[in-house]
Amino acid sequence: MTDTLIKVDLSQSAYDNDMIHNRWHPDIPMVAWVEPGDDFIVECVDWTGGQIKNDDDAADVRDVDLTQVHFLSGPIGIKGAEPGDLLVVDFLDIGAFPHNLWGFNGFFSKKNGGGFLTEHFPEAQKSIWDISGMFTKSRHVPGVSFAGLIHPGLIGCLPSKEMLETWNTREAALYNTDPNRVPALATLPYGPTAHMGRMTGDAAEAAAAEGARTVPPREHGGNCDIKDLSRGAKVFFPVYVNGGGLSMGDLHFSQGDGEITFCGAIEMAGWVHLKVGLIKGGMAKYGIRNPIFKPSPITPTYNDYLIFEGISVDEGGKQHYLDVHIAYRQACLNAIEYLKKFGYSGAQAYAILGTAPVQGHISGVVDIPNACATLWLPTEIFEFSVQPGADGPAVFDTRGIDVPLAPDL
Ligand code: ZN
Repeated sequence: MTDTLIKVDLSQSAYDNDMIHNRWHPDIPMVAWVEPGDDFIVECVDWTGGQIKNDDDAADVRDVDLTQVHFLSGPIGIKGAEPGDLLVVDFLDIGAFPHNLWGFNGFFSKKNGGGFLTEHFPEAQKSIWDISGMFTKSRHVPGVSFAGLIHPGLIGCLPSKEMLETWNTREAALYNTDPNRVPALATLPYGPTAHMGRMTGDAAEAAAAEGARTVPPREHGGNCDIKDLSRGAKVFFPVYVNGGGLSMGDLHFSQGDGEITFCGAIEMAGWVHLKVGLIKGGMAKYGIRNPIFKPSPITPTYNDYLIFEGISVDEGGKQHYLDVHIAYRQACLNAIEYLKKFGYSGAQAYAILGTAPVQGHISGVVDIPNACATLWLPTEIFEFSVQPGADGPAVFDTRGIDVPLAPDL
């Protein structure tokens, strides 16, 4: 019998569960202790803590309180773990709750979070994806279905005090180069909506004021949003505090490389079955600064792709120097324009790129002045042909269905 170390109640506020926290801080108390070699189950709320509903109205995406995210389950202490060790985590299995078989994808308003293509999709939109075993489809994006590559978007160990200071210092320096920018350049500590787990009183308040936000990936892993960190994968995490303090959340049923829609992949509540081990002194032994991992032996086998190229020339025709970010954006925009010719709205095409097992590749970074990035669109996820041919695109009838939009207030 495998123990469920952390349970969540989806009808309860995440703030009322003291085995959940939403900031990174070395003093957050462990909620459970395990031995190396143990396996156990951890339940997680969705990353927003239930702010997004299963309905046809995107107002909740528009009005989301992003200072609350991400709600993480943990931290879990591993006996014997010390700074400098590697925590070995096997993802034995990951799934949705049988009583909650759905997830959401959305684009944030440009004024509240934005996204990779926020200049092109500045208003909040949302699609709901139904989960049927290992498959998913959406009532808002017809003609497409695929197998899930289920993964936690966010997992890592607690930072040390020194590491937390390093994060806060460097991120504040970036933020302060343009403090009025919308969306902001970085998410700085913010006490009022912090949930510090089992910390209480003055200590909790002080830690909340300096606790790192969970938004960016950092040295410990954290919010990496790597779709291949899926069930069956084995991850090696750096340890910075005694016990490690492993926390996780932001479960995704499926996601395209880049999580370009930001809200996000197919976001869901669910559970993770983990097994942990230790490599003593592993960080120095292997020269590890950021986590490394081995992928799952089981992944969806979509082998036929249409591959869209993008170069580092922006939408206005301006030349940029080897800018992979701009090149990938062009690859994504090229894929969206292509899918629109088959009957999809731009928003539906964007939602597909954010949710389906789309691959993103950095293809060239030396051929001055253009970087080349490619977006790999699996063609077998469509119920109709998206191949180019002499007769032009056979338009799929989406029956007037679209991704619900919430106009800005
Ligand atoms: Zn996510």
